[in-house]
Amino acid sequence: MELADARGERSRLTYDELVLAVGAPARPLRCADAASARAHVLRTADDAEALRGRLADAERVLVVGSGFIGLEFAAVAATKGKQVTLLSRGPRVLGRSASATTADWLTAHLRAAGVEFVFGVDALADEQDLADWPADLTVAGIGVDDCPVFADAAGAAGLATDRGVIVDASLRTSLPGIWAIGDIARFPDARGEFQRIESVQNATEQGRHVARAIVHGASDYDEVPWFWSIQAGAKLQIAGLADGADTEVVLGDPSAGKFSVLRFAGERLVCVESVNKPADHVAARKLLASAAAASVTPAAAAEPGFTLKSALVPA
Ligand code: NAP
Repeated sequence: MELADARGERSRLTYDELVLAVGAPARPLRCADAASARAHVLRTADDAEALRGRLADAERVLVVGSGFIGLEFAAVAATKGKQVTLLSRGPRVLGRSASATTADWLTAHLRAAGVEFVFGVDALADEQDLADWPADLTVAGIGVDDCPVFADAAGAAGLATDRGVIVDASLRTSLPGIWAIGDIARFPDARGEFQRIESVQNATEQGRHVARAIVHGASDYDEVPWFWSIQAGAKLQIAGLADGADTEVVLGDPSAGKFSVLRFAGERLVCVESVNKPADHVAARKLLASAAAASVTPAAAAEPGFTLKSALVPA
């Protein structure tokens, strides 16, 4: 394998097994106005350290994007007493990753913490001018790039790629001795559907899985995905993926700030979002990994007295 360092100097390495774990870069704001030019992204520990200092000196903070980065940064800034405006492209927050029930609850929670939301702003649209929202500090959390430089290099090396590096169920790429994990790996789930997951848990568990595979032999990666986020004191935990979800059952009381949203694709439980209900989250992860999940239909979950924990124990 040939490597080029930041100065363009080249060196060669040989390997028996190669693990590609390069992650995905943060998508930068690219429009021409001044607010975009001074926008920061938050990806590395150095980014976080630099932003800590900048936040301390700022009064007005503009956050672009209502995914996890945008919401978490806005929550921290508001909690520190800053004047925070968050621009969301879609009509609600976490459009890609959470139900409307959870998204609406979080929006109300962050509003109460002092975040002002503006919906329907596409920061990358040609006519958009972020100068309408003057700020001392602008932070963009508008997702990750497909990393075209890496994809081109991987494709040129002969790896199968498709908005990421294609791997099999054991996380092997199309070339012998090469594995891919984390943000860049597009892998088949138990139903054979290919997905790419951007999360800490996915990256660390896939890393462990490949290390075990190299030492002990390959097996299928079948961990239930999970995510968490803490925003202005609220703890959101998500187990599973909501692909195809079309029905939901809410357990608990959103107005009391403690609830779980069970999301179903037809009759199949695919995802559980828990707000300030860590015990539900733990039960949901176990349930989604077990055959007992099949008995949890929307009708069963709506029965009085239903709990995720009780669903784990066969009747
Ligand atoms: P993200 O979760 O993909 O969210 C991106 C947000 O930016 C979405 O709200 C999206 O809106 C919005 N957006 C995209 N293009 C936009 C545009 N042109 N103008 C305005 N808004 C735009 O990504 P992220 O928040 O930047 O985070 C980066 C990665 O780190 C993600 O993979 C994320 O899951 C991960 N992360 C995870 C956690 C956690 O698990 N707690 C915490 C931080 C980061 P739409 O909804 O309209 O697409």
